[in-house]
Amino acid sequence: MARCFDFAKLRFAMLNTNGFVYLAALRMEIFTLHRGTSPLFVSLPHDGTALPEDIAARMTEGARRVPDTDWHVSRLYAFAREISASIIVPKYSRYVVDLNRPPDDVSLYPGQNTTGLCPIVQFSGEKIYLPGQEPTPDEIARRVGKYWRPYHHALAAEIARIKAAHGRVVLWEGHSIRSVVPFLFEGRLPDFNLGTANGASCSPEMQRCLADVLETQRDYSFLVNGRFKGGYITRHYGDPANGVDAIQLELAQCNYMDEDSFAYDETKAPRVQAVIRRLLLATSSNS
Ligand SMILES: [Zn+2]
Repeated sequence: MARCFDFAKLRFAMLNTNGFVYLAALRMEIFTLHRGTSPLFVSLPHDGTALPEDIAARMTEGARRVPDTDWHVSRLYAFAREISASIIVPKYSRYVVDLNRPPDDVSLYPGQNTTGLCPIVQFSGEKIYLPGQEPTPDEIARRVGKYWRPYHHALAAEIARIKAAHGRVVLWEGHSIRSVVPFLFEGRLPDFNLGTANGASCSPEMQRCLADVLETQRDYSFLVNGRFKGGYITRHYGDPANGVDAIQLELAQCNYMDEDSFAYDETKAPRVQAVIRRLLLATSSNS
């Protein structure tokens, strides 16, 4: 993926309080950030597939295929640039560090199976690491500093920039997952799963407006605040009273790809993209 920064953006990075971390992250290409001109900001924290060599060498063969990636979401959301959205996409896999978990690794779903900050099991329940090779607490802290914090510094800085420019921000968390994952949920997941932290991360009007879009189509099933209520990013940055509406969309992968081979389905994908596009456009009509 091409680097999206220009010198003006670098100057902006140097001006923000976390400039050094931010610039270091740029040099390492930990993420790419495209800055748009609208209030919409799309974050795709599980799109990354890269594994540093030293970490990959300690993983099982199956885990090195990074099966729990939100496959192809940056391709699905590529059109968001055409509607002037900002987009941030990480390079590294959630197996390195999960950007959508809190840095203290408190469970997002107490009492239910979930995966952690530096997961050691796959969604299949199989191990990620070879025996005795799991990351230690010190290594987890290093990964948070090297990969997690730069992504979040960039998220916070871009939210602040958009809010200063427009007075409001719509933070859209784009995710996808296999439609059947017994380790995490029973049965088959609905196609579109909107999460707003049970209504805490966005205004009631915004949630209503998005639900209306899904209610007026017949191709896909949907649920609002069902099994997936929004992860750490949605819950942490969503602040509707202060002009930040955050929404997570967890999409069932069977709608745009082959869940076994991970191949993108060019026949199915445009139909699902059309509904995502209507959702994103609805966020701008609601203010
Ligand atoms: Zn995800």
